[in-house]
Amino acid sequence: MTRKISSRFRSYYSVELGKLPEGSRVSIAGYVVSVRLHGGVIFFVVYDGGYIQCVAHMDEVDGNVWGKMLEIREYFYVSISGRISYTDRAPSGVEVVMEDAEVIAKPVRMPPFHPYSRRLPSLDKRLDLRAVDLRRPQLHAIFKVRHEVLQAMRRFLVARGFLEVNTPKIIASATEGGAALFPLFYYDKEAFLAQSPQLYKEQLSAALDRVFEIAPIFRAEEFKTDRHLSETLSLDVEMAFADYRDVMNLLEDLVAYIVNSVKRYCAAQLAALDLDIPKVRRPFKRISYDRVISKLRELGLDAGWGEDLSTTALRKLAEVYREPYFIVDWPRGLKPFYIKSKRGGVTESFDLMWGHVELASGGSRVDSKRSLIRNIRMQGLNPESFEYHLRVFDYGMPPHAGFGLGVDRLIMVLTSRDDIREVVFYPRDPSRLTP
Ligand code: ATP
Ligand code: MG
Repeated sequence: MTRKISSRFRSYYSVELGKLPEGSRVSIAGYVVSVRLHGGVIFFVVYDGGYIQCVAHMDEVDGNVWGKMLEIREYFYVSISGRISYTDRAPSGVEVVMEDAEVIAKPVRMPPFHPYSRRLPSLDKRLDLRAVDLRRPQLHAIFKVRHEVLQAMRRFLVARGFLEVNTPKIIASATEGGAALFPLFYYDKEAFLAQSPQLYKEQLSAALDRVFEIAPIFRAEEFKTDRHLSETLSLDVEMAFADYRDVMNLLEDLVAYIVNSVKRYCAAQLAALDLDIPKVRRPFKRISYDRVISKLRELGLDAGWGEDLSTTALRKLAEVYREPYFIVDWPRGLKPFYIKSKRGGVTESFDLMWGHVELASGGSRVDSKRSLIRNIRMQGLNPESFEYHLRVFDYGMPPHAGFGLGVDRLIMVLTSRDDIREVVFYPRDPSRLTP
């Protein structure tokens, strides 16, 4: 792992420079995110996965070289050679005193946004040019946080003994009703893009005990909200010999672990984004759906028992509950067939909320084949379409529980973005299929 990566364009990466002695000769390669000219001194900040300040004095370089440096602008890809100097004026404490700067690739036109500008074109305009938008340091910070969230998830679950699995994304039938599926041609048959790995992860928990998957889910809904996408990344977790309380305990530990990891490993990025994520306190509040409805009525909202919570209702609740909280025991009619029923017309289910955003849904699963068939029928679906799943129950099915967590939503909340598309590399929504 310690083998140094170098090429014709670079002898070091910026992160390695702080380990070298003063005066070491180096070359680096990357693109320029800022150019400043003060009298006879030019400064570049170059990004190569990290940032490094490069400086040259007019009097100390060859006239030709100085001329080349004056041509360099933001977004140019460059290879720079020079010597290491330790100085307080460089943000990282070290800079490259340039001896030469070669332009490797040059834009033929400038993007409609400066790397550090606060006045930006609309998100849609930026998404049209996403690969270039992603050269802005603010997005470097957001996507570093995204990276850490994914790393932290895996670390946490693996440490708790979960096995990472993969399930098919091309499927034969709906998991939760047919409305929200993207159909596609599968040779001579109709197939669909999976809206969730639900039934597969349940089968895998029966075989492997504790499993998780991080993969896209596809939802063909005609939404227009700040928090929906047609393709979104989901963390799916399933555990054998567990009920919904056990998975809520796991989920709150997971969220707290992710928050702490982001605070610890992304301190510079959070500072760059001007963000201070408060520590989350456990246990999270667990409020029954019943109680939520009464609360909404107290707050003057016209909330009907058995109805889903509107965005207005969720925003109202976010004013009351400032930290992540669970809404538990949802009415039977609002939850899918694979969720276990409980007395009183409700289910052993939960949604994890943070602000007005639903981050995760989960529950105890039905482990009796008879109840599952009954629930499938009750939702107007045909048990025959689920034969491949129902047959597994004949070989024994332990009690099990799990959840699906919207990874893009979690990152949106952690980075305080007001549109989920801000935290996704190439988002898909009803009006966007490119880039
Ligand atoms: P919502 O009610 O907000 O549309 P849902 O209840 O339909 O969400 P679930 O089927 O419970 O969603 O999916 C589990 C989790 O996956 C959700 O809690 C959410 O975080 C995430 N998720 C679901 N659909 C989307 C979507 N279209 N875009 C982004 N994230 C989603
Ligand atoms: Mg849900």
